[in-house]
Amino acid sequence: MSPVPIRSLWSDEEAARYQGDLALRVYTSRLLGRDKSLVLHGGGNTSVKVRARNLLGDEEDVIHVKGSGWDLETIEEAGFPPLPLDYVKRLATLPVLSDAQMSNELLTHTLRAGAPAPSVETILHALLPYKFVDHTHADAFIAISNTPDGSARLREVYGDSLVYIPYVMPGFDLARSCAAIFPRERTPRTIGMALEHHGLFSFGDTARESYERMIDLVRRAEDYLRRNGAWQIPFETAPTPAAVPALALATLRRELSEVAGFPLLLASTGDERGRAFARRTDLARVATQGPATPDHSIRTKRVPMVGRDVKAYAAEYRRYFEEHAHRTGRKLTMLDASPRVVLDPEFGLLAVGKTVAETAIVAEVYAHTIEIISRAERLGGWAALSSADIFDVEYWELEQAKLQVKGTKPLFQGEVAVVTGAASGIGKACVASLLKRGAAVVGLDLNPSITSTFKRRDYLGIVCDLTDEASLRTALAQAVTAFGGVDMLVLNAGIFPPGAPIATLPTENWRRVLGINLDASFVLLREAHPFLKLAPKGGRVAVIGSKNVPAPGPGAASYSASKAALNQLVRVAALEWGKDGIRLNTIHPNAVFDTGLWTPEIIAQRAKSYGLSVEAYKTNNVLRTEITSHDVAELAAELCGPLFAKTTAAQVPVDGGNDRVI
Ligand code: ZN
Repeated sequence: MSPVPIRSLWSDEEAARYQGDLALRVYTSRLLGRDKSLVLHGGGNTSVKVRARNLLGDEEDVIHVKGSGWDLETIEEAGFPPLPLDYVKRLATLPVLSDAQMSNELLTHTLRAGAPAPSVETILHALLPYKFVDHTHADAFIAISNTPDGSARLREVYGDSLVYIPYVMPGFDLARSCAAIFPRERTPRTIGMALEHHGLFSFGDTARESYERMIDLVRRAEDYLRRNGAWQIPFETAPTPAAVPALALATLRRELSEVAGFPLLLASTGDERGRAFARRTDLARVATQGPATPDHSIRTKRVPMVGRDVKAYAAEYRRYFEEHAHRTGRKLTMLDASPRVVLDPEFGLLAVGKTVAETAIVAEVYAHTIEIISRAERLGGWAALSSADIFDVEYWELEQAKLQVKGTKPLFQGEVAVVTGAASGIGKACVASLLKRGAAVVGLDLNPSITSTFKRRDYLGIVCDLTDEASLRTALAQAVTAFGGVDMLVLNAGIFPPGAPIATLPTENWRRVLGINLDASFVLLREAHPFLKLAPKGGRVAVIGSKNVPAPGPGAASYSASKAALNQLVRVAALEWGKDGIRLNTIHPNAVFDTGLWTPEIIAQRAKSYGLSVEAYKTNNVLRTEITSHDVAELAAELCGPLFAKTTAAQVPVDGGNDRVI
């Protein structure tokens, strides 16, 4: 795939829907956000300066600047906190201002209650004497800047169209540095600013002018790369491995989680270019220098791990921390020692994170980093920031402050659950309960709708015939490829055949019910065992049993026998797997009517046959309460949680109290 050249996405028709300066600021910010070669999710920032009248009738200059937590691609007017321009400009005259003080001043001086925190680059935006200001971390620009003679190359490309600012960490010091250099160096031809090893600024009187100048500046960088044979970089496709090395992946994820001290997800990106990059013979040199731009280092943290020696990586990381923490003289809290990017010749590019959202960002950032490194290498060598500069961004005061914020983290953050029979009923409810608690969830079902039962990145639906061993193994391997392992398993899939007395029960019925309810569960337990054993917090299995286990009914021989045998299988597994830290617990639901099996007509029919109203039939238990799929799912999720950390082989009824069981 060849890289897509930059172009202006401005459309008069679209722009006509945005009236006023702030609205047009929203429009062109979204145009920047749409092009991932300019800014990645959450990166870059923009501003507009307007004259506004307050409630007392006073006119004042106000700057609207991108607020944190907003993405340029989807930003709205509410994403641009307003601040008094003069006050912000005066902050730049202070000799020193810590980042914490700066963010406090910015946040407490917004002119709208509840506005998001203004960008750390707010002071810099305020100082630039232009109405519209755009800032990106364009790949093409960074590829040129991050070479040994990058400064000279940038001047060759841009001449006096830009003012050049040597690298300074983002924040107050960068604003101060620009305040000193910019007025001195600007010429009538200046349309932007180059922050070396960081990104581009453009300015204009209108939203369109500033935006299209940015596009023009990036186009010039792309042309330069083209002229120097560094635009389209060919790569050798590596042979695809015959089988997914699922167990090796899960082992790696376990080791990463161990050095982190908490469970992490490990996503295989399947990126062809990533795999080719991971096979470079000079990988250790090019990949372990540092991130492409400070913005990236905050998302991917430190440098990638090349290969699979997690202990060596963690030891090296601790050395890096101690060396630089000492240098800064600040009291710092070390981040976890796990990498966020893994480059392995066999696995290719792997992304590590606490959540699926994090791994997706890491994968995206590193795909761009590979592009940037490959181009810089073509130009004359990749030269990233020094390790001291990287450290200062990674251990930024503001980032450290975030560590001190005590939030409750989701119960199953960084963990993976597999649920069978997940397309409907109790299985679907289990997926929802596990997602709600922060797990990444894989749903298996024969029904093709499983792939879209939930539309979110932390859910993967796989069509799978549970009675087919090969199909089960493939599904588990897919789960491990997507998220790194299997920590929890919910055995829910099962069938309830039409009632028949033993005297007339067809053998076929018996075999089919045992095949699905018992045999498939046995195979899945066996195949999942090596993965459950590697779960960072111990493997957990929740089994959806049935009231029929303690209290069977006539006419349900195959169903009752299958569930009772499954119950016994789980008890044996609890005995065998306790030493592996795996615990298995069973739920015995009864009369759950909100599943696909029960239509209102069938319920009415059954109620009538017992001489009960529908309401009385549904609540025909000791507590006179209705049991829902959600009730069963919530208990299944909790059985996997810390409340039951010391419980295995338990059987818990969810039946409102059944007099035959009691
Ligand atoms: Zn930036």
